[in-house]
Amino acid sequence: MLDTDLIAAIATPAGRGGIGIVRLSGPDVSHVVAGIVRRSLKPRVATLTPFHGADGEALDHGLALLFPAPHSYTGETVLELHGHGGPAVLALVLKRCVELGARLAMPGEFTKRAFLNDKMDLAQAEAVADLIEAATATAARAATRSLAGEFSREVNAIVEALIELRTLIEATLDFPEEDIEFLAAADATGKLAVLRERVAAVFARAREGNLLREGLDVVIIGAPNVGKSSLLNRLVGDDVAIVTPIAGTTRDAVRSSIEIRGIPLHVIDTAGLREATDEVEKIGIERTWAAIDRADLALVITDTREQRRVGDDPVVAKLPPLLPRVLIHNKIDLSGEAPRVALRDAIRTIWISAKTGDGMGLLRDAILDVAGAHEDMEGTFLARARHLEALGKARARLAAAAEQLEGPSPPLELAAEELRNAQRALSDITGTFTSDDLLGEIFGRFCIGK
Ligand code: GDP
Repeated sequence: MLDTDLIAAIATPAGRGGIGIVRLSGPDVSHVVAGIVRRSLKPRVATLTPFHGADGEALDHGLALLFPAPHSYTGETVLELHGHGGPAVLALVLKRCVELGARLAMPGEFTKRAFLNDKMDLAQAEAVADLIEAATATAARAATRSLAGEFSREVNAIVEALIELRTLIEATLDFPEEDIEFLAAADATGKLAVLRERVAAVFARAREGNLLREGLDVVIIGAPNVGKSSLLNRLVGDDVAIVTPIAGTTRDAVRSSIEIRGIPLHVIDTAGLREATDEVEKIGIERTWAAIDRADLALVITDTREQRRVGDDPVVAKLPPLLPRVLIHNKIDLSGEAPRVALRDAIRTIWISAKTGDGMGLLRDAILDVAGAHEDMEGTFLARARHLEALGKARARLAAAAEQLEGPSPPLELAAEELRNAQRALSDITGTFTSDDLLGEIFGRFCIGK
């Protein structure tokens, strides 16, 4: 199952930097050490050395670090060459490694080997990529928690309790006459109820973690001049974080990303929606509507002095009916109204001034509330859609098992089968039994060199 060839990659980001690292991993790096460093290396000690080319010339000078197996990131022998961080010089060193027998690593291949060598489980391996990609400090902290194994430990503890319950029920199958009394005495239903609560609690934390990872797609809609850009700037300005108009072609829906209390918000630009002229713009409009269809929240903004009903707005009228929304009355500094919130038909209306900032706190609360986020996201795991799916499946199977166990003569075989399925779903999270396809998909999305 293990790949055992020698892999090499530039492990630092592309571009120029103070240092650049070429990393190698495999069963044997001695050829590379002999060819490039030309002296023996003490384990885990940094050695200042020239990196030699084929003719003995120095390609660069830097630090060589050797981590003999199994005490390394991958569990194999790892060699790191820390040189100067320029793309040309790093390419030379990498090329030399390939001449000496290494092969260029695929995306995520170092971490995949760490997983295959039991250095980390699958949820932790995913957390490595999530930590690197974390867009906010809160997301980074949550990824670090997952990487440290907190998420896996919770899942494993539930799996253990589940195995205990399965053992109990499966043992009863062998003694059908006494089964009911036996199970009642062992409180099988009580144990199952506790298990279901634990899975539900982990699911809730993972759902928040998924929000930290994915963020919310938000669309701001309103007639020209009601204050959409001012609102966006205000949201960005107070919580200065990331403002990245995502570069795309004119055909893509444009998004800018901001952050509210650690949650990334991807704001979809709806500026083009009101004027369809040429073909290219029409395509842009279609893309924008497709993005709106998948959005999590709409902020519908009006000038509070205008008595127009928001439903009269042609864009608002076309919004997907189930899209959660918050109505905003802007420019209260001009109308003399106070900032406030009103709840009507489960839809919140908020009075604000994008110009003075009045009411912005209320708006932020409302946005996070609609998204299901907590004030305190500490303690969340950075979870992926895959994890939520597995936890959801486990919940459904446990609910089915609970149903089976009700009544005077429960079908124990069926209940046992449901418990087995629940266990399988949970084990998918940490990767106890995983298909090569899934591994390929997960590690293929890593960057090269990780
Ligand atoms: P958009 O077309 O919806 O993006 O609207 P803008 O954000 O460009 O705002 C249109 C005009 O209204 C600008 O002159 C803003 O300065 C002004 N404006 C926006 N929000 C407020 C507000 O809360 N109070 C006041 N007095 N003016 C505002």
